[in-house]
Amino acid sequence: MILLTGLILAIPGLIYWLWKQESIYAKQAHQKWLRYPDVELYLRKTTPGGRKSGPTCHHCGSRSIRQLGWEERHDARRLHKCNQCNTSLYRSYR
Ligand SMILES: [Zn+2]
Repeated sequence: MILLTGLILAIPGLIYWLWKQESIYAKQAHQKWLRYPDVELYLRKTTPGGRKSGPTCHHCGSRSIRQLGWEERHDARRLHKCNQCNTSLYRSYR
């Protein structure tokens, strides 16, 4: 009986703990995404010509840039990376 009571009390606690861990992870992942500059800031810092010339990789100078979902493929939070050297460049939201 004591074991059953313990299990009944432990299961909601375990579910709450897992939910809390997930929300902590999601918050940390979002904060990490926010550390990348947005495209406007990236262009201001790296491309003297501004938006006319378009973004280039600050590491190798390549214009070939791909975007990936931050946590999953269809995530609206995007991270733009260089196709040549795989450097993470800037973030965007779609
Ligand atoms: Zn590059």
